[in-house]
Amino acid sequence: MRVLTLVVLISSISWMSFAQDKTWRGKFEPIDRMIDPPSTYRTASGAPGADYWQQRADYKIKASLDEKTRVLSGEETITYYNNSPDELPYLWLQLEQNVNRKENEGFGGIFSVKDSMTSQRMQYLLRPIEFEAGYTISYIKDASGKTLKSLVNNTMMKVMLPEPLQPNTSVTFSIGWSYPVTDRSNFLLSREGYEYFPEDDNCVFLIAHWFPRMAVYNDTEGWQNQQFQKLGEFALEFGNYDVEITVPADHLVAATGELQNDKDILSSDQKKRMTKARKSFDEPIMIVTPEEAAANEKTKSTDTKTWKFHAENVRDFAFASSRKFIWDAQAVKLPNRITMAMSFYPKEGLPVWSEESTQAVVHALEVYSEATFNYPYPVAISVNTSNIGMEFPMISFNGGRPIDGEMSHNAKEGMIRTIVHEVGHNWFPMIVSSDERKWMWMDEGLNTYLDQKTMAERYPQFHSLTPKDMIPYMDGDQNVMRPIMVTSDVESLYSIGANFYDKPTAGFQILRESVMGPELFDAAFKEYATRWMYKHPNPADLFRTLEDASAVDLDWFWRGWYFTTDKVDINLTEVKWFQMSEEEVVIENKGKKVKSKISGKDEKAEMTKDFSAGPQPFNMINTPDKSYGGFLSRIDETAMRDQVSGKNIYELTLKNEGGLIMPVIIEWTYTDGSTEIDRLPAEVWRLNEVQIKKTFLKEKEVASITIDPQQELPDVNMENNSFPRIEVKSEFDAFKE
Ligand SMILES: [Zn+2]
Repeated sequence: MRVLTLVVLISSISWMSFAQDKTWRGKFEPIDRMIDPPSTYRTASGAPGADYWQQRADYKIKASLDEKTRVLSGEETITYYNNSPDELPYLWLQLEQNVNRKENEGFGGIFSVKDSMTSQRMQYLLRPIEFEAGYTISYIKDASGKTLKSLVNNTMMKVMLPEPLQPNTSVTFSIGWSYPVTDRSNFLLSREGYEYFPEDDNCVFLIAHWFPRMAVYNDTEGWQNQQFQKLGEFALEFGNYDVEITVPADHLVAATGELQNDKDILSSDQKKRMTKARKSFDEPIMIVTPEEAAANEKTKSTDTKTWKFHAENVRDFAFASSRKFIWDAQAVKLPNRITMAMSFYPKEGLPVWSEESTQAVVHALEVYSEATFNYPYPVAISVNTSNIGMEFPMISFNGGRPIDGEMSHNAKEGMIRTIVHEVGHNWFPMIVSSDERKWMWMDEGLNTYLDQKTMAERYPQFHSLTPKDMIPYMDGDQNVMRPIMVTSDVESLYSIGANFYDKPTAGFQILRESVMGPELFDAAFKEYATRWMYKHPNPADLFRTLEDASAVDLDWFWRGWYFTTDKVDINLTEVKWFQMSEEEVVIENKGKKVKSKISGKDEKAEMTKDFSAGPQPFNMINTPDKSYGGFLSRIDETAMRDQVSGKNIYELTLKNEGGLIMPVIIEWTYTDGSTEIDRLPAEVWRLNEVQIKKTFLKEKEVASITIDPQQELPDVNMENNSFPRIEVKSEFDAFKE
């Protein structure tokens, strides 16, 4: 009873003081109220729950590309499976091509007028040169051929059903459509479209978000029918695809899925080379050589060929078509299967594309498979484009070309990294299918973490991101900074690269190297990837899984790194050096000032700037019997004195100036020149989030102390990290050198 009363008293006192306490800002409190609550669909451990469901959509599409008019037209039959517990009176489909209509340009208003503007920028801004864009929907019919009512709202189309679609039933319906493929050079953020090559009067067609696709319907969002505004990408359901693509007879088509009619469509030479490529594990084999592509450029066939592809369990389908393509292929042996890494590029990509592209695909497939789960698909294709990179299942469009056959070190790094990154998107979000329209960081952040891992492991000659690279951003203008947890289309241009790509990446690197350790982190990351393969995870599922699989409480980390714009700045404000006085102490004198026998100065010396004043003495007195309470055992006073005698005790005062909770890495440099590292976990800040004192016993004498000397963490101010203070070179000075 007495103990209980005491506890109640203490807790009420501390509660009252917390309300006023400037050393507590709740940085270690659970994030439960900041994220979606768990449910029977998504468990509190971050896994899909007992009642987890997701919809499915299978597509049969026949499309044909008219090269002269550059119009793509198609007929598709969608079978949509309602696995939800809900009745659906209507369905939402995505019509992303409509975003290219002039009236929808308001979505993308991101430029201001400058004193001097390029004509291209003016075209992006005002679109004075008009062109046709968007869908013509010719029909929507149910399985019996009856017209279904529909309603188009910009990039979304609602299809009314005659009867609500019941749970665990499916509906099949067909849509006829066409749209003019647009010139990629007319747009900023052009993920698709055609690129025209005036020199030989040919095009490379990059065809993506080209057919009306089912929007996602799920347990947390209902219909994900937020308009396409160009930045926030896609949310898509899984399904099987049978796609027939009719193009000019001299075109090569690269697509999601496996080619079904290679017997009819490839020449006998091409078939022989493909057979050889299926056994070539060390280098790519040319399926269509540069010489053959050069001959193709001139033929301008008016005949057509139909390429048939089949893809299973994918969330999208894209393709590229041109008579300019050179084509190479190499087999990759993964633990689960042999897959074909392939590249398609015009002669403008030579020579770097034949040297680097397929190799980069292989590297991505190997490193990502090891870090998460094995690549499950039969092909992985990289298609060369003029600029930017864009990902789709099994195929990606990747920017980067040499100029006059030459490519700078930086340009080559950018190109290879783009290929690795876009191929890597097969994992996030093509298989671990998060909602890109809502949370861009969920796929970009995880994918960038792995593309940087691939670059570090396979391309050490190039720079790969480390947390230190985040310093300029994290030390930037707080007035225009947003946290990572901002939805895709609401992000600012200032923060988008950092928040959606690099900051999550640096965060995972910090978790791996400085918080959890590689063993715990790698297993937890893999657990998240495998749990959510072919499913739709939310941020809460990632946060919870990483804790669930590691037994590391990371709420402080998510809270700080994802929900705030706080930065890392640890200030080593004070260091005190003590040695035990060998003098016998009379108990009555305890607490009185004594002269230091070592330095001759007062015990309570002023705050020192270095170690020149020598150590302050302290007295160790025997523990009085009454301090032991009821315990009968006693500390061995002699052993204790022996342990401490002649050694150095250092008391460090650390101030958290940046606000972000982080572990503390302390490097001791001793007077004999040797060094030692001590690591304090982030939890060291839990009782006082602003300032802590920590005491260390060291055999050797310390010459200097530095906090995080290797800059494992993005500490924005290294000037206050050392004792004695040393002047730290600014980034600018380092650069000048
Ligand atoms: Zn990306």
